Parts: sequence; structure tokens; C-alpha cells
Amino acid sequence: MRYLSTRGDATPRQFCDILLEGLAPDGGLYLPERYPQVDAAELARLRAVHANEGYAALAFEILSRYIDDIPAADLRAICEQTYTAEVFGTREIVPLKQLDDGFYLEALSNGPTLAFKDMAMQLLGHLFEYELGRRGQQLNILGATSGDTGSAAEYAMRGKKGIRVFMLSPHGRMSPFQQAQMFSLQDANIHNIAIEGVFDDCQDIVKAVSNDLAFKARQHIGTVNSINWARLLAQVVYYFAGYFQATSGAGDKVSFTVPSGNFGNICAGHVARMMGLPIKHLVVATNENDVLDEFFRTGVYRVRAAADTLETSSPSMDISKASNFERFIFDLLGRDGAAVRELFGVQLARQGFFDLSEDARFKEAAQRYGFQSGRSTHADRLATIRGVHERHGVTIDTHTADGVKVAGEHRTDVPMIVLETALPIKFAETITEALGHPPERPARFNGIEGLPKRVTVLPADVEQVKAMIVRFGGN
Ligand SMILES: *Cc1c(COP(=O)(O)O)cnc(C)c1O
Repeated sequence: MRYLSTRGDATPRQFCDILLEGLAPDGGLYLPERYPQVDAAELARLRAVHANEGYAALAFEILSRYIDDIPAADLRAICEQTYTAEVFGTREIVPLKQLDDGFYLEALSNGPTLAFKDMAMQLLGHLFEYELGRRGQQLNILGATSGDTGSAAEYAMRGKKGIRVFMLSPHGRMSPFQQAQMFSLQDANIHNIAIEGVFDDCQDIVKAVSNDLAFKARQHIGTVNSINWARLLAQVVYYFAGYFQATSGAGDKVSFTVPSGNFGNICAGHVARMMGLPIKHLVVATNENDVLDEFFRTGVYRVRAAADTLETSSPSMDISKASNFERFIFDLLGRDGAAVRELFGVQLARQGFFDLSEDARFKEAAQRYGFQSGRSTHADRLATIRGVHERHGVTIDTHTADGVKVAGEHRTDVPMIVLETALPIKFAETITEALGHPPERPARFNGIEGLPKRVTVLPADVEQVKAMIVRFGGN
């Protein structure tokens, strides 16, 4: 399998060439040159593999269609090390919970940090360690986080050979639970850096360090952000696993609703559908930051300024632009790299939006690609959390609530699966607002706020962050 850039660069690359990279050199995102097809007979075989051998075996089946530069036995071992009941809480890994007839939650949040990002990040940790070991290389992962991504990265990379993590977060601005999750890690290769500033300051420092190309090369700096193809690929697997659990055989279809921010999670659903998984609708659920809902309603993709990006009670969906969206537009435009370059490289940079409302390909997007969308507000979130709790005795998190609310508006004659993207304990304040009492805390997190913290507080100063990487970066 070869990979190409959404902006037209077609230098042949294999999976491991792009595994440790971010953007393609032309500023585009990587995609496989084609989507391997799964026909009805193959789908039946995969259903049997999932039923008989479990999630890790299914993951190997899907991944091996996209990864041909890791020996099959090694790739299978990596999948088996990653997707264990010990790490993800159940033997099913992603069990479905039925709410109503034909209405399900797919539990993706029982990994180490209680958000769906563990599903991909845990695999990335094993893949990175494997590939760096093969090459005899080191990697210093530098990132900025306001919560979920940073902790998922740290729990995936802790103790991994050849890898160190330098994670910046805004000092004092994460919830006590999130701070405790990250700062209680005592592994020598994990470095928490609390920056005296806001999240944007953290991101600016990461950009400044990465733009110093000499420093970046010398210190082996890399990232694990949501545009990484391996993360997206790992997420394709649970669309298959959800489908198999909600259906019984050939000809059945399902729809998925996905609480969306950077369009990473739902883009994996798009890939699964392009492979031939019988998905009727892919429903994008946004919060008040409704960049994506606006596009699917109007054909206009308009990125927001930082000042127009709202702080909501589903904070992991508070985005100003959807960094993975370019991948879908590439497919929508018939994989025309020059057209994508014009939209994302020229029009967005010049005027902050592009408009496909008059393009025939946009008009048939819902039909051809199954996309629908909706948005949810703080009031919707509270009402949904309350309603699901009253009717089903289940407490859902704020992001999942956005999904359940929007899914309710898009039900048809096929089962609807809402992806549960986090557990409620991560967002206890809003749950308490909705229910009058805090959510249940999984036993293994009892008292984590009281554990010793390992964190260095620094001013928002690029040079001091660089000095810390030089000191602990192992070169
Ligand atoms: C990251 C995240 C999302 C958004 O996922 P995308 O892949 O960025 O669309 C939704 N919910 C939670 C809890 C998250 O952590």
C-alpha cells in the first residue's frame, strides 16, 4: 500500500515512512492511494474472526490491509499487546450498550484515560516503540494539551523504549481530575510542563520549537496529533466491531453518530464506509462550535478565529477548524490534489472560508457519502444527560450527550450507534449540574488527586522549554 498527500504530492511512501510524520511536505494530509474493498463474503469472514478470535484479531485483519511493511506476525503481536481486557476493561474491548430498541452506545472509553483517544493512542505507543527499535532511533514527542489528548499520549508512551514525552498544559486550567491523571505519572520518560499561560500559549510554543528545523532535527522532535494516519486507521476497527455487534448478517445496515471536533473519529467512519462497511448514515454531532454542522448544512466551510471559539461544557470538541476535514474534501472532490490545495492552501489562508454550495459534488455528498449533521448546546447537553439517566439509569458524559441528542434527530429504519467518547467522571462539574450529584468514579481512580505530582512549572518562554528538552531529551 502506498500513501499520498491530499495536496497532490505523490512521492511513493509506505506506512512506516509516514508513521512518525505529521503533515506531508506540501502541507497536505496522508491518505492511502485506495481503500481496500470488503465484499459481502469478506465481511462475513471478518464477522466470524471478530466473534471467534476477538477485537485484536479483527484489528489485525483491518490494519494488515493498509500496512505491508511490518511482517504479519509482528503486526499481529502488536495488536494483541494493545487490545487486552486488562487495558480496556472488558473482553469485548468496545461493548455495545443498548438504550432503546435499535439505539446503542458503543463504549470506547474504558481505556487508561477514560476517553476514546486511548483506542488509537495505545496502538501508536506500541507501533512507535517497534519502529524506532527497528531503526535504532529515538523520539522526543512534544505536544500541547488542554486535557484528553495529552493524557492519552502519556499513558500510551509511558515506559516505552526510545521515546520521551514533553507535554505542555496551561498551568492551573485543567480540571483537578485531568491534572491528577497526567501529573501523577512517575515514569522517567514522561515530562509534564505546566506553562504560565493559556492553551494557545502552549500551542504557540510547540509551533515555535517545531519551526526551528535545526533544533527539531537535532533533538528528534515529533508529535502525536490527530492528523496522524495511524491514529485514524486504528479507529476504523471499532466501526467494524460496532457493526458486527448491532447486526446479525448480510444485507444489514447501521448508522453512526459521532461527537466531533477535529473530524478524526468520524473520518475513520468514512474510511470504513469507503471500504464497503454497510453504513447508511454518518452523523456529525457538534457542540456550539459548529464549523462542521455549518458545512454539511450549507456547503460553506468557515474556520473561526480564536476569539470566536467558545469554551463549552464539551471542551474536547471546542475547535476553530477541523484539522482532519481535508481528508474528506479530497475524496469529495474526486481526489483532485490541485483543487484541495486551492481550497485549503489558498482560499482558507486568504479569506478564512471556502464555499462548495454550488458544486454538484457537495449537493450529492449526503447521498454518496452518507453524511448528515446536527448541533447541541449546553441546555441540550443537560437535558440529554438527565433524560438518559432517568429513562435508562445510565450516566453519559457531555460529549456523548451531544451525540445522543443529535442521533435522536436522525434515526431511521436501521440501528443507530452513538460513539461514547468519554466517561462522565472526566466532566463531573456538568454532570452534577445536570443530575444534582456527581458521576460514579471507577474504583481505580479513587484518591488520585492526592497522589504526588510530577510537573515542572515554566513561564511561557520558548527558550526555557527548549532547554528542558535538551536536558532530558537524551541526546
Ligand atoms: C477528541 C474528542 C472528541 C473529538 O474527536 P475528533 O476526532 O477530534 O472529532 C470528542 N469527544 C471527546 C471526549 C474527545 O476527547
